[in-house]
Amino acid sequence: MNATFHRLYHRLLLSALVAGLLLQGCSQQDSLARIQAEGELRVVTRGGPTTYFLSDNTPGGFEYDLAALMAEDLGVTLVMEPAFSLEEIFSRLRRSEADFAAAGLTLTGERQAEFLDASPYLALTPQVIYRTGKKRPRNIDGLIGRKLVVLAGSSHAASLAALQAERLPELEFEEVDDADSMALLERVDSNEADLAIIDSNEFSVQQSLYPRLEVAFDLGTEQQLVWYLAQDEQNQSLLAYIDEFLGRLQKDGTLERLQTLHFGQSGHVSRVGSHTFAINMRQTLPTYIDLIKQVADEYQLDWTLLAAVAYQESHWDPTATSPTGVRGMMMLTVPTAREMGVEDRLDPLQSLRGGARYLKALKRRLPSDIYEPDRTYMALAAYNIGRGHLEDARVLTERHGGDPHLWKDVMGNLPLLQKGTYYRELRYGYARGLEAVTYVQNIRHYENILQWQELPAQQQTPPAALQAYLPDILKHSRMFAL
Ligand code: GLU
Repeated sequence: MNATFHRLYHRLLLSALVAGLLLQGCSQQDSLARIQAEGELRVVTRGGPTTYFLSDNTPGGFEYDLAALMAEDLGVTLVMEPAFSLEEIFSRLRRSEADFAAAGLTLTGERQAEFLDASPYLALTPQVIYRTGKKRPRNIDGLIGRKLVVLAGSSHAASLAALQAERLPELEFEEVDDADSMALLERVDSNEADLAIIDSNEFSVQQSLYPRLEVAFDLGTEQQLVWYLAQDEQNQSLLAYIDEFLGRLQKDGTLERLQTLHFGQSGHVSRVGSHTFAINMRQTLPTYIDLIKQVADEYQLDWTLLAAVAYQESHWDPTATSPTGVRGMMMLTVPTAREMGVEDRLDPLQSLRGGARYLKALKRRLPSDIYEPDRTYMALAAYNIGRGHLEDARVLTERHGGDPHLWKDVMGNLPLLQKGTYYRELRYGYARGLEAVTYVQNIRHYENILQWQELPAQQQTPPAALQAYLPDILKHSRMFAL
């Protein structure tokens, strides 16, 4: 079955299901029919990097992406409604204020008894987190006598309560009333707590923000995340549809792609990254270098900068496509491409021109008292995270006594946009600030290598500073004649 036919077939099936329900006379009641009639899917969630967030007014997060695909499949609008605690999520479900909950919720027996649960879509393991330098617990007994925190109403709170009742009466723990496990990491990092229990997928995303925190041990075995629905006859067809939908995504590989996108690899230029760059520079760059130089000339940019951005965006692949819909060598979104006059995002010349023009526009709009090279670094950060969030980071920099005109100060504040205590006070809210920092640093790194490659004299005697900066793998690379 080809994709179009498959889609059509699926739509027919869905229509038949809905029509059947209409015939049965329960149309006003059945949730799936109601969602289709109203054209709106209401999902209760919680805010956070692994679930749902707004970045530059664009929603993101694993739960969001998955729910958005489902809304698209149904042909309805998605409305995400964040709750501020896990308990609130379940009480909203009880009151049928949402069609279902998609909020990084673990499948537990207790919840299964009260709610309908759809098919699992992500496997994880709860982990005990501690701060390096402090005593590392090795097993459950090591939790005793330590200040241990979990999210209030979480599956972890329930398993600790069970442990306490069954075999460890001296175990103590505190339930923190928040929806984001980052609140727990914050406490361990600042020594307000000794240990926290959070899901492995959440820790993998947040760990880079807290380099001092580590996994002490896995608590128990693998668990599953599921979407929950209110226990209600009217939800049966919706539940059947969700299961069928998730099954389809599993089969065609979409689910795995989303999992990798969100939880696969949180990036820093690793030695592997630099090595890949060196290989690409030899194999792929020659195909596009003339085009890059031409566009850089047109927009009065350094070609090495444009090349570095294009590499960071797409690895110089003009057909690159991300599951979130950005495409082409410069990975432009549909609105940006339109604004920049790009008709075909997959055409490398158009994409490079669009990206160059966008970067120039961002640079121009920065306050005039930000000077080079900081101006370029800030424009790059805005290219990645959006102008609003960069502005937020500059506001925060000033509040913290830094200089909002200097990249080094702004860079230190950008990661704070991921922390609730900060982003709640800011105009544009949560943003992946750390990713923006990594983005700019990678580009500077690639640009340095390219510039240095350009200067034959330097190939013989690289500046000491640069040599220190180069990762080992490049120091030993013959390409750099080191
Ligand atoms: N998955 C957890 C739960 O369902 C919430 C996230 C966490 O506490 O790490 O309760």
